[in-house]
Amino acid sequence: MALIVQKYGGTSVGDVKRIKNVAKKVAQYRNQGNQVVVVVSAMSGETNRLLTLAEQMTAKKNSRELDVLLSTGEQVTIALLSMALEDLGCAARSYTGGQVRILTDSAHNKARILDIDETPVRADLDEGRIVVIAGFQGVDENGNITTLGRGGSDTTGVALAAALNAEECQIYTDVDGVYTTDPRIVPKARRLDKITFEEMLEMASLGSKVIQIRAVEFAGKYNVPLRVLSSFEEGNGTVITYEDSDVEQVKVCGIAFNKDEAKLTIQGVPDRPGVAYHILGPISDANIEIDMIIQNIAEDSTTDFTFTVHRNDYDKALEILQVTSDSLGAQKVSGDNTIVKISLVGVGMRSHAGIASKMFGTLANERINLRMISTSEIKISVVVDEKYLELAVRALHDAFELEGKPEI
Ligand code: ADP
Ligand code: ASP
Ligand code: MG
Repeated sequence: MALIVQKYGGTSVGDVKRIKNVAKKVAQYRNQGNQVVVVVSAMSGETNRLLTLAEQMTAKKNSRELDVLLSTGEQVTIALLSMALEDLGCAARSYTGGQVRILTDSAHNKARILDIDETPVRADLDEGRIVVIAGFQGVDENGNITTLGRGGSDTTGVALAAALNAEECQIYTDVDGVYTTDPRIVPKARRLDKITFEEMLEMASLGSKVIQIRAVEFAGKYNVPLRVLSSFEEGNGTVITYEDSDVEQVKVCGIAFNKDEAKLTIQGVPDRPGVAYHILGPISDANIEIDMIIQNIAEDSTTDFTFTVHRNDYDKALEILQVTSDSLGAQKVSGDNTIVKISLVGVGMRSHAGIASKMFGTLANERINLRMISTSEIKISVVVDEKYLELAVRALHDAFELEGKPEI
C-alpha cells in the first residue's frame, strides 16, 4: 500500500462535472489499495474573480484581508470534492490549510510554509479516509490566514508529500506533462518523459508556470518524487529526476519565457564607486525584486545601467529611479514595459560551446533585436520586444530541433 499525494489544478476542478471526474480518479487510486491525500486549487478563474472584487473595493488592498478573501476559493473545492467522493462510496474529509495546520510565516500573499502537522492527516488515512486539503493557504503562528502566492497549491502538494514521506507527488493539470516549451505558444512542442530537477527549477524560475517555482525548490530540498500529468487523459506524464546522468544529457531541454518583466535604464551616471548600490538600494528597499542587470561604462566616464523588474513593479520602480537620477546627477531615465525574456535551458549546455551563437544567429535571421542578454552554466536568456515572443520561441524551437527526438 502506497501513500500518494495528488494535486489537481484550477482547470481540473473547473466545474461540477470535472470535480466528479477528479473524484473518480482519486477513488480509483484508493480502490487499488493506496492511501490518497488530495490537494485542490480553486475552480479556474475564481482566484482572479476574487482579486477583481478586492480591486473594485479599494485601491489600498490590505494584504491580510486579501488572504482571507483569496483563500475562500479553495474552501469551495475541498468541500465539493469530498461530497463527490462520498457519493462514490469513498469516505473522505476536507480540511482548510489552517485546520491541518500548515504553518507559514506571516508574509501575506507570498507566505512560506514552515511546518505541517501531519498527525490528523495520518489518523484519517489510517481510518481509511481520503483526505482532501485546500491548496494555496496556511496559517501563521497568530492564527491569521495566509496564502502562498499564485500557483501556490503546487507547493502545498509537494510540502504535504514531503511531510508525509509520500511515495509520489502527482501534479494533475490541463497538459499531460512538462513540454519543451509552452504548448499553447508552440503547438509542435514535445512532451518530455523526464526532466532533471535542475532543469525543472530553471524552467520554472524563467517563467514556465506549469509548476510553481517554490514547489520545485521544496521538492529538491526534500527529494520528493514528483510527476506532472493530465487530469483529462491517461498517461505517464513527466517525471522529475534527481540523478545527474551527464552522459545522456541533451544540450537544450526546453525554452522558457516570461511575459511579466519590464526594463528600466538610467543613463549618463557619473562613474564612481557605489553607483550600483545607490541605484539599486532604494529599489530593493521598496521590496522590488531585480532580475537582470547590465552596466556599461562609456568613454566619457559616465555609466549606463539597465535592469529588469516584475511588470507590476514598473511604475513604482520608474518613480524611484527618477529620484535617484536627480540625486546622482544622471542624464536620463527611461523604461519599457513591453518586453519579454526568453531563455534556453539545459544541463547539457555546460559541456557544449556554440549554443549562444546559434541562439543569437537564429534570432538575427528573424531580424529580432536583442535588448539584454544574460547567461549561466545551464541557461541563456535574452530580452526582446514582446511582439516577437511567438516568432522567437518558434524559431528557437525549430533551430534546436526540440520537436524531434532529442540530440544526444
Ligand atoms: P493548473 O491550474 O493545473 O495549476 P497551470 O495553468 O498553472 O495549471 O499550468 C499549466 C499550464 O502551464 C499549461 O496549460 C501550459 O499552458 C503552461 N505551460 C507553460 N510552460 C509549459 C511547459 N514547458 N510545459 C507544459 N506546460 C507549460
Ligand atoms: N488558486 C490559486 C491561484 O490561482 C492557487 C493555485 O491554483 O495554485 O493562483
Ligand atoms: Mg498552476
